Amino acid sequence: MGSDAHCQNSPGVKLHPPIIDMHMHTGLFHEVPAGAPAICRPEPCQGEGRSTANPAENLKKTLEQMDHYNIVKGFLSGVDLSVVGQWVNAAPGRFIASPFILKPGSSDVAKLRKEYASGRLKAMGEIATQLNGIPPNDPSLEPYFKLAEELDLPVLIHTLGIGPDMPHFRTAAGSPILLEQVLTSHPKLRLFVENAGYPYRDEMIAMMYQYPQLYADVSTITWLIPRTAFYDYLQAFVRAGLGKRLMFGSDQMVWPEKIGAAVEAIEQAPFLTAEQKRDIFYNNAAHFLRLDDALRHKAKRDD
Ligand SMILES: [Zn+2]
Repeated sequence: MGSDAHCQNSPGVKLHPPIIDMHMHTGLFHEVPAGAPAICRPEPCQGEGRSTANPAENLKKTLEQMDHYNIVKGFLSGVDLSVVGQWVNAAPGRFIASPFILKPGSSDVAKLRKEYASGRLKAMGEIATQLNGIPPNDPSLEPYFKLAEELDLPVLIHTLGIGPDMPHFRTAAGSPILLEQVLTSHPKLRLFVENAGYPYRDEMIAMMYQYPQLYADVSTITWLIPRTAFYDYLQAFVRAGLGKRLMFGSDQMVWPEKIGAAVEAIEQAPFLTAEQKRDIFYNNAAHFLRLDDALRHKAKRDD
């Protein structure tokens, strides 16, 4: 019996409405000691949570959180594609498998094309080259966007003001305005931006107004920064009329309990209506991923 069924059948346990997590990872690309608290901003600050000891524990605890919060799908990326494959096999139908791209060329485009053809991968990114100081409009990323546009893949990119402490990370390489060249060169690209470009609010709103195909997630900032700063940012996008293009994510890395923290940050937002929360938790991602189309087709076939 699946744990979902267990959850539904347990007396007194209220099942959450379904959630899609648009930002999950199989782990971190650098070592974190087991039990280390989660990162936080602004430093000095005390992060909460305890990092998992290994990928197996990370998977187990991530699935527990997904079951608990009824997360029916996760957009999952990892540097090691064999680990991404293990997660997919451990929970069939639950994850959208995607390569984490830290350096252009390190996972070469021809190899990726084969992975997409085989059906093992279904999305692209997180494209995280900004962590190495490489902006989204760098020519080295062009073959990736071209492939994603050709194959009609959903693409996640780290284009924002903040990121992990890495020697070559550059805030200046994260202005959402730098996406303009990408979006004009690839008008069919299905792109979404981590953390809605935090804290480049005005730049991101401008891009979303001008390029209606552009979506955003609210993920790490649900737990990384002070709650007041997150709510100010989220509310600005909702007030700007962009509530239909914001998608929930956890960016849990090696702290699976952050999935629950992320869900609760949205649930507790005092300015969101129940309908706006459902949009962020599920409807917007279903639309972006075209799950609604897939379901409609399935319903037709079942007629
Ligand atoms: Zn991420």
